[in-house]
Amino acid sequence: MERISIIDLVEQIPTEADAYAFMERLRWPDKPICPHCGSEAEHRFLAPENGSSRRTRTGTLSQRRVWKCRDCKRQFSVITNTPFHGSKVPVRTWLFVLFEMCANKNGIAAREIARKYRLTNKTAWFVAHRVRLAMENLPIAEPMRGTIVADETFIGGDPLRMNRKTRRRWEGRDEDPVPVAPGAARPNQHTAKTPVLALIDTNTGEARSKVITDVAGPTLRKAIANQVVMSGSTLMTDEGPQYNQIGREFLSHGAVNHHAGEYVRGSVTTNQAENFFSQLKRSLDGTHHHISKTHLPRYLAEFDFRYSTRGLTDTQRMQRLMGQTANRRLSYKRVVGSY
Ligand SMILES: [Zn+2]
Repeated sequence: MERISIIDLVEQIPTEADAYAFMERLRWPDKPICPHCGSEAEHRFLAPENGSSRRTRTGTLSQRRVWKCRDCKRQFSVITNTPFHGSKVPVRTWLFVLFEMCANKNGIAAREIARKYRLTNKTAWFVAHRVRLAMENLPIAEPMRGTIVADETFIGGDPLRMNRKTRRRWEGRDEDPVPVAPGAARPNQHTAKTPVLALIDTNTGEARSKVITDVAGPTLRKAIANQVVMSGSTLMTDEGPQYNQIGREFLSHGAVNHHAGEYVRGSVTTNQAENFFSQLKRSLDGTHHHISKTHLPRYLAEFDFRYSTRGLTDTQRMQRLMGQTANRRLSYKRVVGSY
């Protein structure tokens, strides 16, 4: 599949059955693999094309493409055991949202999804978060090794510094249409800026950003050690003294002195991180406005995914996304916390 636009997509998936088939090509480029047991046998295609289309509870003909595993005999479809599993949202809509979140540099706001695809705000919000879950780098992801740029920044506005009008609008808005737990002091989630650490592999272009509690040396060390094989890598940072100790655990450590106006010295630069953060902030400010601390990690996952795959076409990016969706079901509870 080559490059497509949203208009091509609309033309390519006129029906729900087409959407299933399209998603199958993304998730299983070769042939269907059973999501229950992993079998790659020639699975039997059940519906809707072999005359056995089942009627749904409401009596309409189901367009869901269903397979039956040769080995475990269980039925499955392309969304089985993915974050889209068990959703009432049509697969067609999932594909459109998926496409937009993969293709738009700044992502797409839940409100816009709601408006465009005729969903409630609450459903749209949940849909976007399910896609973010699919984009997440799981803890089992390979550790990074090579030349790693590390930098930290603070995300989030300080409501005390907003003008009155902006603050009133913001406080009265349901930017998270899902209510927070009773008793949780909602505005407090927004009052402090949240530190975020970004690690960028300069060879592969992969970025991983994580919310951290503070920017002290030990915290940074722990966050970096979790992601990077330090003894086999080179670290690049700005001149922040908190990186000196960590730097000794790396093969080598290069630091540029921003205060002295230095951004590149030889091969030492943290420009990638600067670009990463400025794009991230533009995206958060422009598209999503105020994101609570609780949900920030998911937005970071979305952003990391797009950044790390920026060399791919939109279709390739969707393929990558669908390829990593297995066993990522997302319950409502997991998204909204223990509410
Ligand atoms: Zn099976």
